[in-house]
Amino acid sequence: MKYSDLLNITQEYGNPIYVYDAEKIISQFNRLTNAFNTVKKLKLNYAAKALSNLTILRLMNELGSGLDTVSIQEVKLGLLAGFKPESIIYTPNGVSLEEIEEAAALGVRINIDNLSILEQFGSKHPDIPVCVRINPHVMAGGNSNISVGHIDSKFGVSIHQIPHLLRIVELTNMTINGIHMHTGSDILDIDVFLYASEILFETAKNFKELEFIDFGSGFKVPYKDGDIETNIEELGEKLSKRFNEFCEEYGKELTLAFEPGKFLVSEAGYFLAKVNVVKQTTSTVFASVDSGFNHLIRPMLYGANHQIINISNPKGRERYYSVVGYICETDTFANNRRINEISEGDILCFKNAGAYCFTMASNYNSRYRPAEVLWYKDKPILIRERETFDDLIRNQIDVKDLFEAKNQKAAVK
Ligand SMILES: *Cc1c(COP(=O)(O)O)cnc(C)c1O
Repeated sequence: MKYSDLLNITQEYGNPIYVYDAEKIISQFNRLTNAFNTVKKLKLNYAAKALSNLTILRLMNELGSGLDTVSIQEVKLGLLAGFKPESIIYTPNGVSLEEIEEAAALGVRINIDNLSILEQFGSKHPDIPVCVRINPHVMAGGNSNISVGHIDSKFGVSIHQIPHLLRIVELTNMTINGIHMHTGSDILDIDVFLYASEILFETAKNFKELEFIDFGSGFKVPYKDGDIETNIEELGEKLSKRFNEFCEEYGKELTLAFEPGKFLVSEAGYFLAKVNVVKQTTSTVFASVDSGFNHLIRPMLYGANHQIINISNPKGRERYYSVVGYICETDTFANNRRINEISEGDILCFKNAGAYCFTMASNYNSRYRPAEVLWYKDKPILIRERETFDDLIRNQIDVKDLFEAKNQKAAVK
């Protein structure tokens, strides 16, 4: 997308606003698919939680993607967006048996990540096949918030509990149709990932009725120049080879599944906000935009580094700025960043704003969540309206006479 396209979008639909480039989503989907083209059965299940707008889900469905969901509400969004139930996998963590049963009743694939619920579900519904999420205890990436395969993680059934798992399967007579792992959000080291995969293959041998092995996600995309990204092509080549060998050993053509979120949508997204104030202090120059961590929390939550470009003055002289929001709390997007000279009224563009940005937005400070636009075939298509004051008060019950009544009583006494 050109900066002029983005500027035009802010003029037409206002700011702050999220814009997603459909072409980038499509090319990422194709790139991942091509990397595994020697595998006969490949299934990409887009992780809805990264960006769950219905039109984005429809695009994924159109591309032939399945959907990875983590709540019953995401399951319902997927069905609403036209996914067939069997193309949806429900991979929750820490949810009730009732919610899992509700998903099963909708006909979607079920992925269970603890032995307690597995035993209860298997006892009640031995005819519904389920996938099991395994924790291979492999550390991927350095940040413990996003490394979900290691020993302390709350996710998955430990590989050390496989004997117990097998006992439950035998006693309930349930069918395990898939095994799954999702080691974390960063695959930086392909060898570490392949090592975890070997543990999954080893585990898979215990189950005779598998249809698929799901390797989760964690594909890393670059956020700034010089960032390491997962080498998808190398991973594709190495894992495909091993997977095909395993299928031969296993005696059946299994489906290789992935659940990419960030890889498919991160780089397609742009967040656009207007500079309200340029404020020189004794230590830095602040540029305050008409947004904050209520709209884009990743810098404050994870220390994420989103590249920021002044698209109103892309050729201007570079200076150092601290880009901050308008939330009444420390709300920093970037510290001492070199950005083309900023004037009040300029539009700043935050890159990599497709994954975990809008979906984590809130109404904190009683602000509206932004609009969303899909850039498709060189045209902007509004896919979510900006919120209005009515949205802020929709579910509130304004009990007007509650305190008045009390005052009246006091007066009577
Ligand atoms: C969040 C999540 C994903 C997607 O992870 P990305 O890093 O965005 O690709 C995949 N699988 C499960 C189970 C998840 O919870």
